[in-house]
Amino acid sequence: MQQYYEQQHSIGLRTLEDISSIILHSHDLQETLSNIVTIVAKRMRTDVCSIYLLEEDGETLILKATKGLSQTAVGRVSMKTSEGLTGLVVENRDVVMTDNAPTHPRYKYFKASKEERYLSFLGLPLFERKTPIGVIVVQTVEARRFSDDEISVLRTITFQISSIVMNAKLLDSVQTKEQERAYYEQELARLRTGRITGSDSVNEEGRVGAAASTSLGGTAASPGFCRGKVYILDRFSHKVIKAAKVGSKAEELHKLQLALEKVVIQTIYMEKRVSELLSESDASIFHTHLMILEDRGFTSKINDLIEQGAGASWAVHEVVQGYIEAFAAMEDPYLRERSADMEDIGRRIIDALEGNDAATITLKEKRVIIAEDIFPSDMATLEHDKVLGIVTEKGNSYSHAAIMAKSLGIPAVVGVRGLLDAANVKDQVIVDGTVGQVYLNPELRVCSEYQRLEKDYASKMKELEHLRDLPAVTTDGTRISLRANIGLVSDIKIATANGAEGVGLYRTEFPYMARTSFPNRHEQAQLYQKILEGFPDQPVNIRTLDIGGDKGLPYFEHPHEDNPFLGWRSIRFSLDEQHIFREQLAGILLAAPAGCATIMFPLISCPDEIRRIKSIMHAVVAELQADGLTVCGDLPLGIMVELPAAVQIIDLLAPEVDYLSIGTNDLIQYTLAADRNNPKVKEYYDPYHPAVLHSIKRVADEGRRLGRRVSICGEMAADPLNTLLLIGMGIREFSLSAPGIPLVKKAIRQHSLRQCQAFARKVLSYNSVGAIKAYIQKKRELFERMR
Ligand code: PEP
Ligand code: MG
Repeated sequence: MQQYYEQQHSIGLRTLEDISSIILHSHDLQETLSNIVTIVAKRMRTDVCSIYLLEEDGETLILKATKGLSQTAVGRVSMKTSEGLTGLVVENRDVVMTDNAPTHPRYKYFKASKEERYLSFLGLPLFERKTPIGVIVVQTVEARRFSDDEISVLRTITFQISSIVMNAKLLDSVQTKEQERAYYEQELARLRTGRITGSDSVNEEGRVGAAASTSLGGTAASPGFCRGKVYILDRFSHKVIKAAKVGSKAEELHKLQLALEKVVIQTIYMEKRVSELLSESDASIFHTHLMILEDRGFTSKINDLIEQGAGASWAVHEVVQGYIEAFAAMEDPYLRERSADMEDIGRRIIDALEGNDAATITLKEKRVIIAEDIFPSDMATLEHDKVLGIVTEKGNSYSHAAIMAKSLGIPAVVGVRGLLDAANVKDQVIVDGTVGQVYLNPELRVCSEYQRLEKDYASKMKELEHLRDLPAVTTDGTRISLRANIGLVSDIKIATANGAEGVGLYRTEFPYMARTSFPNRHEQAQLYQKILEGFPDQPVNIRTLDIGGDKGLPYFEHPHEDNPFLGWRSIRFSLDEQHIFREQLAGILLAAPAGCATIMFPLISCPDEIRRIKSIMHAVVAELQADGLTVCGDLPLGIMVELPAAVQIIDLLAPEVDYLSIGTNDLIQYTLAADRNNPKVKEYYDPYHPAVLHSIKRVADEGRRLGRRVSICGEMAADPLNTLLLIGMGIREFSLSAPGIPLVKKAIRQHSLRQCQAFARKVLSYNSVGAIKAYIQKKRELFERMR
């Protein structure tokens, strides 16, 4: 079995190596074809390799690329399928071979191609499903017959090429560089001016559309709202595959082999498209898919089932199901979500096996996608400018689809129970991705509420737009700095569009999460460099790995812990797994010359940790210098203040570092012993608890006394009223998720430092949570009226 598999792999193009090289080094269809003919001529050791593609009329073949014939013939030599040996290949829908072409009755001489000296000819049709799309021809000067093995190799190659050609054509049609640019501009414009689109009118019954009105709740996966017609993503049912006709073992194995190759090609395309559209880290999930597709363990399990008599589709279904169940049973929510990746891979292999692989979901107009689940491959192939919003029955906010929707600024709600039973193809829908609510055929009341929201949102955004290049300064002249919290390369655009003055928190977990193994120092340096270059002359505060707690890595088996948030997480992990920590520090140091990097360490509890970190840091600097590299040995170092212990001894910690950053998300949970992710204790997780406020005040005061900058990078700072309170408590630097910056800036520019200080004094003077909350509420009402 293994031998069969290896033999299959060794023929044709050298699967991943050759195909990746063709796809990754080709920017359009023309380049793809030229790269193919060059590689095939080399692999087949022939003097000529040419590709002819069929025109739309289905009967004209045009020479599109050649290695060996005159280049001036490309695009000029054309023939009907009733002409020449090449036409005969299409007519026969099979191999045409001769060792003396000029004497063949169907030989037709084309002056432009100068092919008279080539005697032997081997041509094979290219098919997309069962329709011919072109011909591949190899020729040699020497008069020779091609062996059965050579024909079989070329047959395998044509199969691979057909997929590449179809994907390249598709890419050419949906994604020219111009469209790409227009897309980004549109996305940025959308970001600035609000997101409501669609113009469906409300009918007399007070509903949009005729069907019953339903409101469904789910998880808010990507903020924003939209309104429009639905597109129900209906998948091919895999329930029928058990009953499908099964061929001989050899046939089923061969079918599987071809399907796997086809899916590999699709996946490389998806990786390429997403890395161009979003970022390499967003695309790296497809690399994981490739690893799975190439994994011997995975493929041999399928082969074994086929050997036992199962059909290829059923075997894939069974093996994938086993993986899905294993992932779904995992405790870690990130790993649990990987079952969706397995489902995606399985679905695509079965689709390829069953000939159900229509390459993309084609939307004729802008629609809201409704589906059981959206897979990374859907996100890669959908025309994003036609997707108003996404609603799924399954999934959570860790889904890659949710992450990608966020990066693309498409509102999304996931985990909506009963969605597919309730939705109908004719429905209209309003999606509120900010609160996680979906309205099918909304009532007039809901529609007008959203119309009002739409108007308010659009005018507010317009008003905020001019703030982008203005400084965040109070009316009495105190300068505040507003930076962005980021995690993806694509966040650079969003941060810049919202006027962020650099990055106050770069969470490095994501690039680690979307991979199959720990990235080495060079891979990390490349990524960090991209981020630094995105913010020329502005600080970028890189936080070292903060895994554990609720964040896991798919390739690192974290030991089971009863209390993961009180366990082996964050800097504790880095200090224990020093080889991983050293690689990350080296990566940051190598990238540092590309911008203004600073390094921040999470979850610090005592000065000893800082000293250990510094000594590791020195060792890494020395190691890089010993390798002859020039590295900056004194990058500013900071710590996150997110533990009550750190607050208590802040006077001992601050002198050890250059700056402090308060992570309120964790500080609140640890101060109040209330899990930040547990809705049951939501009431206890309270940013206005005096213990939290006095902790922040203490850190701000001590930072000022000891001459250390203090910033806040937790979610608390994203609420404009909180920002005013925190300014009043002495904080001058904030880092928040970028779309929140304009509103926060507006509030700062409308208030004086004295007002903020009076506000803070009053809040800190109360001794009960209730009194503080009542006062904040009063302030909030006043504040809302001002906006
Ligand atoms: C925090 O704890 O406030 C913080 C910003 O870190 P994270 O949310 O990544 O834990
Ligand atoms: Mg934290």
